[in-house]
Amino acid sequence: MAPMICEPYSVRALTLWQPYASAVAALGKDIENRGWSPGNYRGLILVHAGKATDRAALRYVPQDLTLPRSAVVAIARIAGAHTDCAGECSPWADQDSTWHLELSGAVQLPTPVTQVTGRQRIWVPDDALRQRVAAALPPGAACLAAHLRKEPGACTGGAVAYGADSTTPAPAKENAACPCAPTR
Ligand SMILES: [Zn+2]
Ligand SMILES: [Zn+2]
Repeated sequence: MAPMICEPYSVRALTLWQPYASAVAALGKDIENRGWSPGNYRGLILVHAGKATDRAALRYVPQDLTLPRSAVVAIARIAGAHTDCAGECSPWADQDSTWHLELSGAVQLPTPVTQVTGRQRIWVPDDALRQRVAAALPPGAACLAAHLRKEPGACTGGAVAYGADSTTPAPAKENAACPCAPTR
């Protein structure tokens, strides 16, 4: 099996329809249903709300839930993925979906980062977007900002496995409060 990609500065993004993006940000949605394998990435992920809405799902969320579009609304962690739970892993799981992406540690942005175009699959945010999200983080999320800005103050997220492109492991810096740290 290929090594899991989870390094202090690795950040990816995932575009979700609304209301699912806001549900991850604000309602503790911990499973994202997909028809494709997320591959071996485990680590921080920008939760991006695309333009699309699943109107049938609106009845399951509070009416006052704000639903930004084309915006990063949170940062979370892809902790794992599985295919074999029969839809019983979470109230948010769809048993008809092939893959369940396990999300943990979501931190909502008090003000979403807007005018961001979505993409397919797991995508790589550019440095400009990383900086914008770092600036939008709530107080107390300094470690997350350090990850996004590639500053040496970022923790290494506990049990980090280095990707094939990394030859020198960074010194371990633990920060159990950081969402990048494994919770399971
Ligand atoms: Zn599941
Ligand atoms: Zn951290």
